[in-house]
Amino acid sequence: MDYLTSQKLKEEWGKKPCDHPAFEKVYYTGAFLMNYSCTTCGADFTISQKMAIDEMRKLKKAAL
Ligand SMILES: [Zn+2]
Repeated sequence: MDYLTSQKLKEEWGKKPCDHPAFEKVYYTGAFLMNYSCTTCGADFTISQKMAIDEMRKLKKAAL
């Protein structure tokens, strides 16, 4: 998503809790910013943070 869109999401979402169900790469004026934002709340994640969350979810699923 666009950087400004993620900023807007953040403003609109405020401080409500979010379990970050989905991520999108963030772009700023067409350039990839090398991070991800939650499509629900707009929270920012680095690639390694996103990978850690993906990994954790995979492990959780495997444990079920
Ligand atoms: Zn979120």
